[in-house]
Amino acid sequence: MTAMVKAEGVHKSYGHIEVLKGIDLEVAPREVFCLIGPSGSGKSTFLRCINHLEKINAGRLWVDGELVGYRQKGDKLYELKDSEVALKRRDIGMVFQRFNLFPHMTAVENVMEAPVQVKGEAKAVARERALKLLDRVGLGDKAGNYPSQLSGGQQQRVAIARALAMEPKLMLFDEPTSALDPELVGDVLDVMRGLAEDGMTMVVVTHEMGFAREVGDNLVFMDGGVVVESGNPRDVLTNPQHDRTKAFLSKVL
Ligand code: ADP
Ligand code: MG
Repeated sequence: MTAMVKAEGVHKSYGHIEVLKGIDLEVAPREVFCLIGPSGSGKSTFLRCINHLEKINAGRLWVDGELVGYRQKGDKLYELKDSEVALKRRDIGMVFQRFNLFPHMTAVENVMEAPVQVKGEAKAVARERALKLLDRVGLGDKAGNYPSQLSGGQQQRVAIARALAMEPKLMLFDEPTSALDPELVGDVLDVMRGLAEDGMTMVVVTHEMGFAREVGDNLVFMDGGVVVESGNPRDVLTNPQHDRTKAFLSKVL
């Protein structure tokens, strides 16, 4: 089976600062893959590499069997053109800590935007799917609301629906609940749990260890740009093998 994400010795530097120092990992289709680690360990950078927002300096990275950033012909690699990168990025949904909805558009307009603008989909078709997606994230009755009329948790659920509207094969979540008031976190995690049950492949950077334990199929602990430890979330969280993992978990659990 082709991995949905495969990283081999992925390195990423900004100037002289090496942020990713050789990441190796594999995410299987339909898997919920959780990424934890202290601030500055390179988690967001790694997600950005998967999503073509950063170019890696060394190693190889594949999404669904295709090299990120390059086309392979024989044993030669050709850099993808911007238009080719844009096409690949359509297949990957990303949800950030900050929801970044368009403030002048209603919830349903936010969700319709990319299919209409990027894929050239008919508005009626896009609207119908958007309404279904808002229903799926528990906001069927908020379609006409503007972001300012929604709570942070509701806005984040609209952001998830917006990512899903492009029918991605992979969803990346970068601390999707970190900016939310505690009482709003549960609804967002419930939506993510539902996505997992529906078989969506998800890479989730999170500090929600309960979610990682219950929903995650795999968990990686990153520190200082390397994978320190990985495995079944329950095993890693209850019986960490490395001192750095133990120290981190003692602070967050
Ligand atoms: P995490 O998401 O685990 O908190 P990041 O991937 O955001 O970590 O950052 C890892 C390191 O890379 C940090 O030291 C950060 O300052 C640095 N970094 C991230 N993005 C850039 C950038 N665009 N330019 C320079 N340094 C960056
Ligand atoms: Mg981050």
